[in-house]
Amino acid sequence: EQAARHARTAPVEGLDRKKGRHVEQQTLAGKTAVVTGGGSGIGEAIARTLAEEGAAVVVADVDTAGEVVAKAINDDGGRAAFVAADVISEPSVAGLMDQAVTRFGGLDILVANAGIAEVKAPVHELDLAAWQRVLDVNLTGVAICNKYAAAVMVAAGRGSVINMASILAHVGQANSQAYSAAKAGVVNLTRSAALTYARQGIRFNCVSPGYVDTPLVAGLPDEVRARMVERQPIGRLARPEEIAQVVAFLASDRSSIITGACINADGGYTAI
Ligand code: NAD
Repeated sequence: EQAARHARTAPVEGLDRKKGRHVEQQTLAGKTAVVTGGGSGIGEAIARTLAEEGAAVVVADVDTAGEVVAKAINDDGGRAAFVAADVISEPSVAGLMDQAVTRFGGLDILVANAGIAEVKAPVHELDLAAWQRVLDVNLTGVAICNKYAAAVMVAAGRGSVINMASILAHVGQANSQAYSAAKAGVVNLTRSAALTYARQGIRFNCVSPGYVDTPLVAGLPDEVRARMVERQPIGRLARPEEIAQVVAFLASDRSSIITGACINADGGYTAI
């Protein structure tokens, strides 16, 4: 009986103890990822999914919620560290990428996911301070993160960058100016960076989610949520984990031929 118990509890070579998955099945084993906005919603799901795929993950966020996410990943048998970082500050982002290299020995994947929503208003009532804030975080923040990640990746001769766009990069929405402009900027920033680094082994892609069931959306009034569901041909909101799966694919070598692309993960929203 003792031998049988030992057989059940003995570590199996190559098996991830907590998750029961074979290490060889993990698509990101040995890689290091930085996920900005990793403390909540889509970013949290991305951080967890990349860790499950074997990556060491730096959870970067202005909010200390990122610390909770990193701890949960570590408790679950993965490898993660929280780094407080503000994507609109160059010194902060430079320090973030340095931390990834120092703690985990390199930087293979950047997911520039941090973003903020805007207060909707018609363009003739545009509040320029609010416009600037949304452009700063959602577009310039992505550019700054791409800049400091690319610097590390060029030296290493490899890397995969995934920038978070939105369906509103591709289609308009009444009273949404800054967010739509910023996200459209993210798509073309990504394409140009892809062309710049295509011969250097660094891929740049983006993901455009439709409406996703994150804390942000959960806090909206029922009628607003119902309208969101109605607009998605699939008839439901996306789960953050579904967006994370697309990001994990783009992060992995399984997508080695894909660069400069934008994958719409939107339940058919932009197919209409
Ligand atoms: P969220 O608010 O749940 O999470 C965003 C995270 O980013 C937060 O933890 C926040 O603290 C962090 N953050 C904000 N500003 C930051 C800064 N300056 N530096 C570092 N971190 C910062 O949002 P979410 O719904 O998970 O959205 C994540 C991304 O997906 C955003 O880029 C958003 O525009 C995009 N997106 C979301 C949806 C949706 O339906 N939720 C749809 C399309 C695109």
